[in-house]
Amino acid sequence: MTFKAPVKDMLFAMQHLARLDQVAQLPGFEEANLETAQAVLQECARLNEEVVAPLNWEGDKQPSWWQDGNVITTPGFKEAFREYAEGGWQGLQHPVTFGGQGLPKTIGAACTEILNAANLSFALCPLLTDGAIEALLTAGSEAQKRLYIPPMIEGRWTGTMNLTEPQAGSDLSLVRTRAEPQPDGSYKLFGTKIFITYGEHDMAENIVHLVLARVTGAPEGVKGISLFIVPKFLVNPDGSLGARNDVRCVSIEHKLGIKASPTCVLQYGDQGGAIGYLVGEENRGLEYMFIMMNAARYAVGLQGIALSERAYQKAAQYARERVQSRPVDGSVAGAAPIIHHPDVRRMLLTMRALTEGCRAMATVAAAAYDAAHHHPDAETRRQNQAFYEFLVPLVKGYSTEVSHEVTSLGVQVHGGMGFIEETGAAQYYRDAKILTIYEGTTAIQANDLLGRKTARDGGAVARAIAQQIAATEAELAGDGSADALAVLVRLQAARQAFEEVVGFMVAHAKSDPVAAYAGSVPYLMLAGNLVAGWQMARALLAARRALAAGEDAAFMRAKIATARFYADHILTRCAGWRDSIVGGHAAVAAMALEAY
Ligand SMILES: Cc1cc2nc3c(=O)[nH]c(=O)nc-3n(C[C@H](O)[C@H](O)[C@H](O)COP(=O)(O)OP(=O)(O)OC[C@H]3O[C@@H](n4cnc5c(N)ncnc54)[C@H](O)[C@@H]3O)c2cc1C
Repeated sequence: MTFKAPVKDMLFAMQHLARLDQVAQLPGFEEANLETAQAVLQECARLNEEVVAPLNWEGDKQPSWWQDGNVITTPGFKEAFREYAEGGWQGLQHPVTFGGQGLPKTIGAACTEILNAANLSFALCPLLTDGAIEALLTAGSEAQKRLYIPPMIEGRWTGTMNLTEPQAGSDLSLVRTRAEPQPDGSYKLFGTKIFITYGEHDMAENIVHLVLARVTGAPEGVKGISLFIVPKFLVNPDGSLGARNDVRCVSIEHKLGIKASPTCVLQYGDQGGAIGYLVGEENRGLEYMFIMMNAARYAVGLQGIALSERAYQKAAQYARERVQSRPVDGSVAGAAPIIHHPDVRRMLLTMRALTEGCRAMATVAAAAYDAAHHHPDAETRRQNQAFYEFLVPLVKGYSTEVSHEVTSLGVQVHGGMGFIEETGAAQYYRDAKILTIYEGTTAIQANDLLGRKTARDGGAVARAIAQQIAATEAELAGDGSADALAVLVRLQAARQAFEEVVGFMVAHAKSDPVAAYAGSVPYLMLAGNLVAGWQMARALLAARRALAAGEDAAFMRAKIATARFYADHILTRCAGWRDSIVGGHAAVAAMALEAY
């Protein structure tokens, strides 16, 4: 079956939840109205449905392969990437001054989701290039920006992110790659990087590696790490390509999923040293890389939503076609399509509600990012930045954990056929597993949420969000419909559970860190579930207003039903997490290490 981009749902989230009309009032985004969004999304949908999506299954069957230091991508990828680049998609959210289109993230995020739903393996190359552009925009010199960003925006060159080494994964303080200063101001790099996505490939003329390394004599730990540009081909001052640099792909990995995306071992400096150029100041590399990582973490959250959407569409179609068993209510005389069975509908609704909830949360986060960067008022920018930063680990952590559940249900709806590769549902399930691992595992996102985003400010941002949720509860009460009142009860209970946990975390993060961190991932799940559920409650209110105004009745009714389902079946999970966090932390520490 073919993929259909969920343009309508995306526009609904932009219009009613992220308030695109307000984004379009920000300086620089005057053109970003609903009509523009619709036109961009429709064109994005066309390219991805017709060109990129059909290569998804091909990539799983015929992954990228390595030959003598070169990586050959799945047949068709190169041509699709050319089309993607020529369409200007790489520059969608990047500044006009460097050849981009300068659209807000609120619209750009939807395009990223569509691309990833079409083909996750393919989409990783533009995703990392976006991250490299963003890091250079923030920390690069003017000359570096002019030299490296326009060709990446044009799609002639791509970018990578080189953090991981065999002994340094979650803990980047252990990075050992060395950088030796040279008399001409450049550096020579020596070391091995592993798991580098699109570290080598045949889709672009050049690859701009952004590499974390330690300058000779730098302090130990994270304070001694610097960031370097190491181009695959050296670049002349006029932008033309020079000699091949001393960075080579010595192998690629065989993986559970995202098989078409080459995951490379890169060897730096085997033939005298890879030439690199310092980005920003020495020893501030991790700080700069965090900018790239925050962009990439948000985008990985979109990957989770994308896979969930794809899995849902496939399962819903199968459930309409597969005939098996007589419905319990006797509505069909004999065997009926399985969608008639309540449990199948429960599975489909779980998939749909989780997907729409996460999308709503990500869209609202994107609008906060836009306001944080473009709003004329400094205090408004600060508040939006704090809100966005709180949401990044939720978008990344919750949406990707949820994608495991959704893609697993996708297999389940297919029964035995789901386990058979030809059906395609299994690919989404396998592909989803990486999303909770790279760009920082779920535990690392949870550490960020608990340490930097909650404990550090004494829970101030978390409580401000709780207050906004309480305001939505008041609106639900004001609406007064049976659906709104039912959602109100669930939302209130989930919000109170969240507040209780925030209080627990703030009280224990320093005094009893084992108790706090034993609940870090459950806290992330609770917070993500709540924020997504809050957005679904807002969606219900917006849909009811639209319905009253006579707009698109079938769509709005489905939205209300999905929001109600989210409240009754998904928001209710929050109380369980609260109980485990507050009452169950001792059980995590109880078992002696030797007993494992
Ligand atoms: C397909 C693929 C593509 C990748 N692409 C890139 C890339 O392009 N660039 C790049 O630099 N890297 C890339 N990576 C590496 C990826 O980011 C790391 O694998 C990831 O950060 C986890 O590190 P690790 O594998 O060393 O696991 P470890 O750090 O060894 O973690 C093992 C387990 O311990 C837990 N753990 C570790 N520390 C803590 C802690 N402080 N608190 C709680 N739990 C903890 C983790 O959550 C995990 O469950 C990629 C990896 C894969 C598999």
